Amino acid sequence: MSVVGIFGGTFDPIHRGHIEIARYVHRTLELDHVRFVLSAQPPHRRPTIASTADRAHMLELAIAGEPGFVADPREQQRRGPSYTIWTLRSMRGERPTQPLALIVGMDAFQSLNTWYCWEQILALCHLIVLPRPGWTSSDKHVDWYRDTISSDPSELDRASAGKVYACDAPLIDVSASAVRRKIQDGEDVSADLPEAVWGYIRKHGLYDYSKSIEHRNMQSEQLKDLALAAMDDMKGKDVRVMDVRELTDITDYMVVVSGSSDRHVKAIADKIVDTLREQNLRPLGVEGREHSNWVLLDFGDLVIHVMHPEARRFYDLEGLWSEQVKQMLLERRERHSE
Ligand code: ATP
Repeated sequence: MSVVGIFGGTFDPIHRGHIEIARYVHRTLELDHVRFVLSAQPPHRRPTIASTADRAHMLELAIAGEPGFVADPREQQRRGPSYTIWTLRSMRGERPTQPLALIVGMDAFQSLNTWYCWEQILALCHLIVLPRPGWTSSDKHVDWYRDTISSDPSELDRASAGKVYACDAPLIDVSASAVRRKIQDGEDVSADLPEAVWGYIRKHGLYDYSKSIEHRNMQSEQLKDLALAAMDDMKGKDVRVMDVRELTDITDYMVVVSGSSDRHVKAIADKIVDTLREQNLRPLGVEGREHSNWVLLDFGDLVIHVMHPEARRFYDLEGLWSEQVKQMLLERRERHSE
């Protein structure tokens, strides 16, 4: 009988690492299927950031259309802490003789000896351990599993439980905590997440996405004033504020400010970012910060260009915008005079 893989996690959110690992194990070990078990109330960790319902939705979206992937809701339906051992007992009750294998990353494997009733795990299932960047195997609980290590995956098919198989899968450098942090910082996470999951996060404003994108609690006016104060603090020169609300839906204000050197440009930009961060407002994007005479800070309703005067002259952003403003005003006046 082929092996059923059990992949538990908080999936806060489910990411490319989870999906690729599951695909790899499913394919190379020819598993019957992989059951994704969402840990509703993780016993060893602080509460999750997204709700159980949101995490469950993201899980469904991530595995939709993946042959051999199933969402297993039993830890959501059970009350109390999501102890893996209870899940394994319940699955074993449903499949008394079928091989079961719990899939874990190396980090989870290293902390296995902190899990509730951990020493009973191998009586109920095999373990498939995946490498993870930054984690190497240690001999923490080696006495417990030394005699069970298997280097032959076909052994997993031959017994219903009891083997530890270290799977030689490719390393995937994605973690849920890094994804959450990136979203808060307004960084692009589209490569780290299944597309539908990223869409869900944006739509529902999870992980502070709404703060970084909409600045819900602050009008663009206040946002602009805070940024102007930061520029003033850093002695930014020739500040020009353009109200572009009539021109575009993309942003409300465009501000251009000059710094006298590349270092000054960077210092002004950093001060603006720090000042707005104190209000929990993070840029959606920052461009050119490291080695540039032009830093663009995109705060959604407010776009700021910090520029060296030469770059400012050369690119003439204000000229372009003024031209558009002029054009628009002319058109409007014409309409009114008709
Ligand atoms: P966090 O960063 O918050 O700890 P996570 O990325 O580890 O989250 P979990 O839902 O806690 O996500 O992980 C579920 C399981 O997936 C664990 O066994 C974990 O070791 C494994 N896992 C997650 N990401 C990877 C990865 N990139 N490589 C290998 N295993 C991973």
